[in-house]
Amino acid sequence: MLTGMNIVVIGGDARQLEVIRKLTELDAKLSLIGFDQLDHGFTGATKEQIDELKYADISAIVLPIAGTNNEGKIETIFSNEKVVLTKEMLLQTPEHCAIYTGISNEYLDQLTTTSNRKLVQIMERDDVAIYNSIPTVEGTIMMVIQNTDFTIHNSKVAVLGFGRIGMSVARSFHSLGAMVKVGARRSEHLARIYEMGIEPFHLSLLNKEVSDIDVCINTIPHPIVTAGVISRMPAHTLIVDLATKPGGTDFRYAEKRGIKAFLAPGLPGIVAPKTAGQIVANVLSQLLIEDLQQRKVDE
Ligand code: NAP
Repeated sequence: MLTGMNIVVIGGDARQLEVIRKLTELDAKLSLIGFDQLDHGFTGATKEQIDELKYADISAIVLPIAGTNNEGKIETIFSNEKVVLTKEMLLQTPEHCAIYTGISNEYLDQLTTTSNRKLVQIMERDDVAIYNSIPTVEGTIMMVIQNTDFTIHNSKVAVLGFGRIGMSVARSFHSLGAMVKVGARRSEHLARIYEMGIEPFHLSLLNKEVSDIDVCINTIPHPIVTAGVISRMPAHTLIVDLATKPGGTDFRYAEKRGIKAFLAPGLPGIVAPKTAGQIVANVLSQLLIEDLQQRKVDE
Protein backbone atom coordinates (compact mmCIF):
# COMPACT_ATOMS: atom_id res chain seq x y z
CA MET A 1 0.00 0.00 0.00
CA LEU A 2 1.00 3.63 -0.48
CA THR A 3 -0.62 4.92 2.71
CA GLY A 4 1.04 8.13 3.86
CA MET A 5 2.50 9.01 0.47
CA ASN A 6 1.67 12.42 -0.99
CA ILE A 7 2.00 12.16 -4.73
CA VAL A 8 1.55 14.97 -7.26
CA VAL A 9 0.35 13.90 -10.70
CA ILE A 10 0.95 16.61 -13.29
CA GLY A 11 -0.74 16.49 -16.71
CA GLY A 12 -1.01 13.68 -19.20
CA ASP A 13 -3.62 12.01 -21.35
CA ALA A 14 -6.14 9.17 -20.84
CA ARG A 15 -3.33 6.83 -19.81
CA GLN A 16 -2.70 8.93 -16.72
CA LEU A 17 -6.27 8.28 -15.50
CA GLU A 18 -5.31 4.62 -15.03
CA VAL A 19 -2.29 5.74 -13.01
CA ILE A 20 -4.50 7.94 -10.82
CA ARG A 21 -7.01 5.11 -10.35
CA LYS A 22 -4.31 2.64 -9.32
CA LEU A 23 -2.52 5.01 -6.92
CA THR A 24 -5.76 6.02 -5.17
CA GLU A 25 -6.70 2.32 -4.85
CA LEU A 26 -3.36 1.85 -3.06
CA ASP A 27 -4.35 4.63 -0.60
CA ALA A 28 -1.88 7.30 -1.76
CA LYS A 29 -2.94 10.92 -1.26
CA LEU A 30 -2.93 12.55 -4.68
CA SER A 31 -2.78 16.16 -5.83
CA LEU A 32 -3.84 16.44 -9.46
CA ILE A 33 -2.45 19.33 -11.49
CA GLY A 34 -3.83 19.91 -14.98
CA PHE A 35 -7.06 17.97 -14.56
CA ASP A 36 -9.57 20.76 -13.78
CA GLN A 37 -11.65 20.03 -16.93
CA LEU A 38 -11.93 16.34 -16.08
CA ASP A 39 -15.51 15.55 -14.97
CA HIS A 40 -14.54 12.32 -13.28
CA GLY A 41 -13.62 12.56 -9.57
CA PHE A 42 -11.35 10.13 -7.73
CA THR A 43 -11.68 9.46 -4.01
CA GLY A 44 -8.40 10.41 -2.34
CA ALA A 45 -7.37 12.74 -5.17
CA THR A 46 -7.77 16.53 -5.14
CA LYS A 47 -7.63 18.77 -8.19
CA GLU A 48 -5.29 21.65 -7.41
CA GLN A 49 -3.51 24.54 -9.10
CA ILE A 50 0.27 24.42 -9.31
CA ASP A 51 0.71 27.51 -7.07
CA GLU A 52 -1.39 25.87 -4.30
CA LEU A 53 0.97 22.91 -3.79
CA LYS A 54 2.62 22.33 -0.42
CA TYR A 55 5.98 21.27 -1.82
CA ALA A 56 7.50 20.29 1.54
CA ASP A 57 4.97 17.41 1.85
CA ILE A 58 5.48 15.87 -1.59
CA SER A 59 6.89 12.31 -1.68
CA ALA A 60 6.88 11.89 -5.47
CA ILE A 61 5.98 13.74 -8.66
CA VAL A 62 4.47 11.82 -11.57
CA LEU A 63 4.80 13.36 -15.04
CA PRO A 64 3.09 12.21 -18.26
CA ILE A 65 4.60 9.54 -20.52
CA ALA A 66 6.07 12.31 -22.70
CA GLY A 67 7.62 14.08 -19.68
CA THR A 68 8.16 17.76 -20.46
CA ASN A 69 9.11 19.61 -23.62
CA ASN A 70 12.53 21.22 -23.90
CA GLU A 71 11.33 24.32 -22.03
CA GLY A 72 9.93 22.26 -19.16
CA LYS A 73 6.28 22.62 -20.21
CA ILE A 74 4.02 19.71 -19.36
CA GLU A 75 1.14 18.82 -21.66
CA THR A 76 -2.22 19.02 -19.87
CA ILE A 77 -5.04 17.88 -22.15
CA PHE A 78 -7.62 18.10 -19.34
CA SER A 79 -6.82 21.75 -18.56
CA ASN A 80 -5.88 25.11 -20.05
CA GLU A 81 -3.47 25.70 -17.18
CA LYS A 82 0.10 26.20 -18.39
CA VAL A 83 2.38 24.10 -16.21
CA VAL A 84 6.16 24.35 -16.31
CA LEU A 85 8.35 22.22 -14.04
CA THR A 86 11.18 24.33 -12.64
CA LYS A 87 14.23 23.96 -10.45
CA GLU A 88 12.66 26.33 -7.87
CA MET A 89 9.74 23.92 -7.50
CA LEU A 90 11.93 20.84 -7.07
CA LEU A 91 14.20 22.52 -4.54
CA GLN A 92 11.20 23.10 -2.26
CA THR A 93 10.42 19.35 -2.16
CA PRO A 94 12.05 16.99 0.38
CA GLU A 95 15.35 15.48 -0.79
CA HIS A 96 13.78 12.01 -1.14
CA CYS A 97 11.13 13.29 -3.59
CA ALA A 98 11.59 11.33 -6.85
CA ILE A 99 10.36 12.38 -10.28
CA TYR A 100 8.68 9.68 -12.38
CA THR A 101 8.31 10.20 -16.13
CA GLY A 102 7.71 8.06 -19.21
CA ILE A 103 10.69 9.41 -21.12
CA SER A 104 13.24 12.11 -20.42
CA ASN A 105 14.95 14.83 -22.42
CA GLU A 106 17.84 17.22 -21.92
CA TYR A 107 15.70 19.65 -19.90
CA LEU A 108 14.47 17.02 -17.43
CA ASP A 109 17.88 15.38 -17.12
CA GLN A 110 19.50 18.70 -16.33
CA LEU A 111 16.72 19.86 -14.01
CA THR A 112 16.83 16.73 -11.85
CA THR A 113 20.64 16.63 -11.83
CA THR A 114 21.01 20.26 -10.73
CA SER A 115 18.19 19.84 -8.15
CA ASN A 116 19.70 16.56 -6.95
CA ARG A 117 16.41 14.67 -7.29
CA LYS A 118 16.02 11.09 -8.49
CA LEU A 119 14.58 10.77 -12.03
CA VAL A 120 12.91 7.48 -12.98
CA GLN A 121 12.12 6.79 -16.65
CA ILE A 122 9.36 4.20 -16.82
CA MET A 123 9.52 3.58 -20.59
CA GLU A 124 13.25 2.76 -20.39
CA ARG A 125 12.46 -0.39 -18.48
CA ASP A 126 12.58 -3.73 -20.26
CA ASP A 127 9.38 -5.00 -18.66
CA VAL A 128 7.39 -1.91 -19.71
CA ALA A 129 8.82 -2.04 -23.26
CA ILE A 130 7.84 -5.70 -23.58
CA TYR A 131 4.30 -5.18 -22.20
CA ASN A 132 3.96 -2.13 -24.46
CA SER A 133 4.92 -4.19 -27.50
CA ILE A 134 1.49 -5.87 -27.25
CA PRO A 135 -0.62 -2.77 -28.07
CA THR A 136 2.13 -1.60 -30.45
CA VAL A 137 1.73 -4.79 -32.48
CA GLU A 138 -2.06 -4.45 -32.50
CA GLY A 139 -1.70 -0.88 -33.78
CA THR A 140 0.75 -2.04 -36.45
CA ILE A 141 -1.67 -4.72 -37.65
CA MET A 142 -4.40 -2.03 -37.79
CA MET A 143 -2.17 0.25 -39.89
CA VAL A 144 -1.25 -2.51 -42.32
CA ILE A 145 -4.88 -3.56 -42.77
CA GLN A 146 -5.99 0.05 -43.30
CA ASN A 147 -3.31 0.77 -45.91
CA THR A 148 -3.24 -2.35 -48.06
CA ASP A 149 -5.72 -4.08 -50.38
CA PHE A 150 -4.37 -7.57 -49.67
CA THR A 151 -4.50 -9.85 -46.65
CA ILE A 152 -1.67 -10.08 -44.16
CA HIS A 153 -1.99 -13.82 -44.59
CA ASN A 154 0.37 -14.94 -47.38
CA SER A 155 1.89 -11.47 -47.82
CA LYS A 156 5.65 -10.96 -47.67
CA VAL A 157 6.60 -8.92 -44.62
CA ALA A 158 10.10 -7.73 -43.74
CA VAL A 159 10.63 -6.72 -40.12
CA LEU A 160 13.77 -4.70 -39.43
CA GLY A 161 15.25 -5.00 -35.95
CA PHE A 162 14.82 -7.79 -33.41
CA GLY A 163 14.51 -5.92 -30.13
CA ARG A 164 11.49 -5.85 -27.84
CA ILE A 165 9.15 -4.51 -30.53
CA GLY A 166 10.67 -6.29 -33.53
CA MET A 167 10.38 -9.71 -31.88
CA SER A 168 6.68 -9.21 -31.02
CA VAL A 169 5.89 -7.81 -34.49
CA ALA A 170 7.65 -10.71 -36.23
CA ARG A 171 5.92 -13.34 -34.08
CA SER A 172 2.45 -11.82 -34.54
CA PHE A 173 2.66 -11.37 -38.32
CA HIS A 174 4.08 -14.91 -38.60
CA SER A 175 1.09 -16.20 -36.57
CA LEU A 176 -1.29 -14.38 -38.92
CA GLY A 177 0.11 -16.40 -41.82
CA ALA A 178 2.40 -13.78 -43.35
CA MET A 179 5.70 -14.88 -44.89
CA VAL A 180 7.92 -13.00 -42.47
CA LYS A 181 11.62 -12.33 -42.74
CA VAL A 182 13.53 -10.43 -40.07
CA GLY A 183 16.64 -8.35 -40.58
CA ALA A 184 19.11 -8.16 -37.66
CA ARG A 185 22.84 -7.73 -37.22
CA ARG A 186 23.67 -9.94 -34.24
CA SER A 187 24.33 -13.64 -34.84
CA GLU A 188 22.37 -14.64 -31.71
CA HIS A 189 19.36 -12.71 -33.05
CA LEU A 190 19.65 -14.44 -36.42
CA ALA A 191 19.76 -17.79 -34.59
CA ARG A 192 16.69 -16.97 -32.48
CA ILE A 193 14.73 -15.82 -35.55
CA TYR A 194 15.57 -19.14 -37.23
CA GLU A 195 14.53 -21.04 -34.07
CA MET A 196 11.13 -19.27 -34.21
CA GLY A 197 10.55 -20.70 -37.68
CA ILE A 198 11.01 -17.28 -39.31
CA GLU A 199 13.47 -16.39 -42.06
CA PRO A 200 16.48 -14.41 -40.78
CA PHE A 201 18.72 -12.19 -42.87
CA HIS A 202 21.69 -10.00 -42.05
CA LEU A 203 20.98 -6.29 -42.35
CA SER A 204 24.00 -5.89 -44.61
CA LEU A 205 21.88 -7.67 -47.25
CA LEU A 206 18.89 -5.36 -46.82
CA ASN A 207 19.07 -3.93 -50.38
CA LYS A 208 18.69 -7.39 -51.87
CA GLU A 209 16.14 -8.71 -49.35
CA VAL A 210 13.51 -6.03 -49.99
CA SER A 211 13.18 -6.72 -53.71
CA ASP A 212 10.09 -8.96 -53.35
CA ILE A 213 8.31 -7.70 -50.21
CA ASP A 214 4.78 -6.31 -49.74
CA VAL A 215 5.25 -4.70 -46.32
CA CYS A 216 8.30 -3.35 -44.50
CA ILE A 217 8.02 -2.75 -40.76
CA ASN A 218 10.97 -0.88 -39.32
CA THR A 219 11.78 -0.84 -35.59
CA ILE A 220 15.38 0.43 -35.86
CA PRO A 221 15.84 4.03 -34.66
CA HIS A 222 18.60 4.71 -37.17
CA PRO A 223 18.54 5.67 -40.90
CA ILE A 224 18.17 2.16 -42.29
CA VAL A 225 15.41 2.35 -44.91
CA THR A 226 17.49 4.60 -47.12
CA ALA A 227 16.75 5.87 -50.63
CA GLY A 228 18.91 3.02 -51.95
CA VAL A 229 16.81 0.43 -50.06
CA ILE A 230 13.51 2.01 -51.08
CA SER A 231 14.59 2.10 -54.73
CA ARG A 232 14.80 -1.74 -54.66
CA MET A 233 11.30 -2.25 -53.21
CA PRO A 234 8.32 -3.16 -55.41
CA ALA A 235 6.18 -0.07 -56.10
CA HIS A 236 3.24 -1.38 -54.03
CA THR A 237 5.30 -1.87 -50.83
CA LEU A 238 3.91 -0.34 -47.65
CA ILE A 239 6.45 0.96 -45.14
CA VAL A 240 5.36 1.29 -41.50
CA ASP A 241 8.07 2.87 -39.39
CA LEU A 242 7.66 2.25 -35.65
CA ALA A 243 11.02 3.65 -34.56
CA THR A 244 11.04 6.75 -32.44
CA LYS A 245 10.96 10.10 -34.28
CA PRO A 246 12.29 10.79 -36.89
CA GLY A 247 12.17 7.03 -37.64
CA GLY A 248 14.61 5.16 -39.82
CA THR A 249 13.03 5.81 -43.22
CA ASP A 250 13.89 8.31 -45.93
CA PHE A 251 10.29 9.55 -46.15
CA ARG A 252 11.19 12.21 -48.69
CA TYR A 253 12.47 9.64 -51.13
CA ALA A 254 9.57 7.24 -50.45
CA GLU A 255 7.13 10.01 -51.36
CA LYS A 256 9.13 10.86 -54.48
CA ARG A 257 8.96 7.21 -55.57
CA GLY A 258 5.24 7.01 -54.76
CA ILE A 259 5.71 4.41 -52.02
CA LYS A 260 3.35 4.66 -49.08
CA ALA A 261 5.38 5.22 -45.93
CA PHE A 262 4.16 6.16 -42.45
CA LEU A 263 5.87 7.06 -39.23
CA ALA A 264 3.59 5.54 -36.58
CA PRO A 265 4.57 6.84 -33.14
CA GLY A 266 2.70 6.30 -29.89
CA LEU A 267 0.53 3.39 -31.03
CA PRO A 268 -0.23 2.02 -27.51
CA GLY A 269 -1.73 5.36 -26.46
CA ILE A 270 -3.77 5.51 -29.68
CA VAL A 271 -5.15 1.98 -29.98
CA ALA A 272 -5.34 0.98 -26.30
CA PRO A 273 -4.95 3.94 -23.93
CA LYS A 274 -6.54 2.01 -21.07
CA THR A 275 -4.18 -0.95 -21.39
CA ALA A 276 -1.21 1.35 -22.00
CA GLY A 277 -2.16 3.27 -18.85
CA GLN A 278 -2.51 0.07 -16.83
CA ILE A 279 0.95 -1.09 -17.94
CA VAL A 280 2.48 2.15 -16.64
CA ALA A 281 0.28 2.18 -13.52
CA ASN A 282 1.26 -1.36 -12.48
CA VAL A 283 5.00 -0.74 -12.81
CA LEU A 284 4.86 2.76 -11.33
CA SER A 285 2.91 1.62 -8.26
CA GLN A 286 5.41 -1.19 -7.67
CA LEU A 287 8.30 1.30 -7.86
CA LEU A 288 6.58 3.69 -5.45
CA ILE A 289 5.94 0.86 -2.97
CA GLU A 290 9.62 -0.13 -3.14
CA ASP A 291 10.61 3.52 -2.67
CA LEU A 292 8.36 3.82 0.41
CA GLN A 293 9.70 0.57 1.89
CA GLN A 294 13.31 1.68 1.31
CA ARG A 295 12.63 4.99 3.03
CA LYS A 296 11.15 3.18 6.08
CA VAL A 297 14.32 1.03 6.25
CA ASP A 298 16.53 4.15 5.99
CA GLU A 299 14.65 6.01 8.74
P1 NAP B 1 15.19 -2.22 -28.71
O1 NAP B 1 14.73 -3.38 -27.89
O2 NAP B 1 16.33 -1.41 -28.26
O3 NAP B 1 15.50 -2.79 -30.20
C1 NAP B 1 16.07 -1.98 -31.18
C2 NAP B 1 16.52 -2.86 -32.34
O4 NAP B 1 17.15 -2.00 -33.29
C3 NAP B 1 17.54 -3.91 -31.96
O5 NAP B 1 17.34 -5.07 -32.72
C4 NAP B 1 18.88 -3.25 -32.36
O6 NAP B 1 19.85 -4.18 -32.73
C5 NAP B 1 18.45 -2.49 -33.58
N1 NAP B 1 19.34 -1.39 -33.89
C6 NAP B 1 19.54 -0.25 -33.18
N2 NAP B 1 20.42 0.56 -33.80
C7 NAP B 1 20.79 -0.09 -34.93
C8 NAP B 1 21.66 0.23 -35.99
N3 NAP B 1 22.36 1.37 -35.99
N4 NAP B 1 21.79 -0.66 -36.99
C9 NAP B 1 21.12 -1.82 -36.98
N5 NAP B 1 20.29 -2.19 -36.00
C10 NAP B 1 20.11 -1.33 -34.99
O7 NAP B 1 14.02 -1.21 -28.94
P2 NAP B 1 12.45 -1.55 -28.96
O8 NAP B 1 11.90 -1.50 -27.60
O9 NAP B 1 12.25 -2.77 -29.79
O10 NAP B 1 11.89 -0.27 -29.73
C11 NAP B 1 12.20 -0.06 -31.08
C12 NAP B 1 11.79 1.34 -31.48
O11 NAP B 1 10.37 1.44 -31.44
C13 NAP B 1 12.31 2.43 -30.54
O12 NAP B 1 12.67 3.54 -31.32
C14 NAP B 1 11.09 2.74 -29.68
O13 NAP B 1 11.14 4.06 -29.18
C15 NAP B 1 9.99 2.57 -30.67
N6 NAP B 1 8.64 2.31 -30.14
C16 NAP B 1 7.61 2.73 -30.91
C17 NAP B 1 6.33 2.49 -30.54
C18 NAP B 1 5.24 2.97 -31.44
O14 NAP B 1 4.08 3.03 -31.00
N7 NAP B 1 5.54 3.28 -32.66
C19 NAP B 1 6.05 1.82 -29.33
C20 NAP B 1 7.13 1.40 -28.55
C21 NAP B 1 8.44 1.64 -28.96
P3 NAP B 1 21.06 -4.56 -31.72
O15 NAP B 1 20.45 -5.38 -30.65
O16 NAP B 1 21.98 -5.31 -32.63
O17 NAP B 1 21.64 -3.26 -31.22
